[in-house]
Amino acid sequence: MRRTVFTGGLVFDGTGREPFPGEVVVEDGRVTRVTPGWSDDPGHPDDIRVDCIGRTVMPGLVEAHSHLTFPSSVGNIDPGFNPPVDVSFFRRGLTPAEHLVIAERNARVLLDAGFTTAYSAGSLTGSTVEVELRDRIRSGVVPGPRLRAGSFERDNNPLHYGATSDETGPAAVRSFIKEQAAHGFDNVKFLLSNDDVFEPGGSQKTQYAAEEVQAAGEQARESGVWLNCHAQSAEAVKLAVRNGFRAVYHCTYADEEALDLLESRKDDDLFVAPAVGIVYANVYEGEEFGIDRKVAESMGQPQCLETMTEIYPEMRRRGIPVLPGGDYGFPPNPIGRNARDLDLFVRLFGYAPCAALSAATMLGGRIMGMGDELGVLAPGYLADLLVVRGNPAEDVTILEDGANLLAIVQEGRFHKADPALGLAGMVTTTV
Ligand SMILES: [Zn+2]
Repeated sequence: MRRTVFTGGLVFDGTGREPFPGEVVVEDGRVTRVTPGWSDDPGHPDDIRVDCIGRTVMPGLVEAHSHLTFPSSVGNIDPGFNPPVDVSFFRRGLTPAEHLVIAERNARVLLDAGFTTAYSAGSLTGSTVEVELRDRIRSGVVPGPRLRAGSFERDNNPLHYGATSDETGPAAVRSFIKEQAAHGFDNVKFLLSNDDVFEPGGSQKTQYAAEEVQAAGEQARESGVWLNCHAQSAEAVKLAVRNGFRAVYHCTYADEEALDLLESRKDDDLFVAPAVGIVYANVYEGEEFGIDRKVAESMGQPQCLETMTEIYPEMRRRGIPVLPGGDYGFPPNPIGRNARDLDLFVRLFGYAPCAALSAATMLGGRIMGMGDELGVLAPGYLADLLVVRGNPAEDVTILEDGANLLAIVQEGRFHKADPALGLAGMVTTTV
């Protein structure tokens, strides 16, 4: 089998240690060797040698809260999905086939942005678009990140979230989960709390009773799906942690007890993602899309951002696994800009650049349930990696410019190989 040798540059291995001069060898889709220093050994004549001088080899990024059915991506802004300014998207009545076209475009854009894996935080539609997207990516029909498909987001408000949610109680919760599992979804999402974005004071409203969340936890284990939740209120966070939710999103108003609970399960497949990108965009960058200061305030966004900048450094101090990514797909923060979250982790939450990079790679492997084969560059791990111009551990923002991503590799196959690498003919996924 032909080997690919990435040599001459720095290696960031995903664990959080500083990049070091080193070599990465890939064979048959997996990393077979990571060594410090650069060998003079020319290797086998068949080896593909990738010159990484002035570049960094690092694991592919993982988006921990993706919404590939949201319509806006870089270069394809859809003003009709921009609550509260414009929600005309929902009146268009897209067919599942039409929605799949959008999702496939988004998947391609997200992969082009260096995200080789995406963990879904839910679908806009009750149809099985994400299941089909996952399967089409997996079988190589379309390029995109390796995906865990997410169901549409259930709350107890039938006006917002679909046909099955007009019933309350544990039995209705169970039947919803069974139905999503039967459709082939990997992840099922609940809006355990409302949100200030949807209605004033909403973030403090917990929308599910304890017995409903308990039923959800039990049914998910029976059905073999993972649970994710939107949880702004402290109570919603506590319910999620106590009932085995895997991804607890936002957590803005977690109190001391909620933080203690999160901390108590930090080694137990529990992950937090703030989805700070949209909040930041709404506060500072929404004006051209009609989200001026007044609108942002009516959505509770400045307060949310301020509270997040207090609570997330505390989560970091406690060692709770917090992952970048989230809620990209609106006009002010289109899909494709997801790497910006790393900068927000550094600037707003006090992460060292290496820690932010590790959260987007090593922890990403773990949230996918693939911690022993994804998110780290080490022998045996899947060869999902990037060759980046420069050193992202000195400046994470270089990841935001696709031109700096010279190579994007999934399981040893080049999705992208910049001409500067001199690897003509190596790109094997659809361009
Ligand atoms: Zn979301």
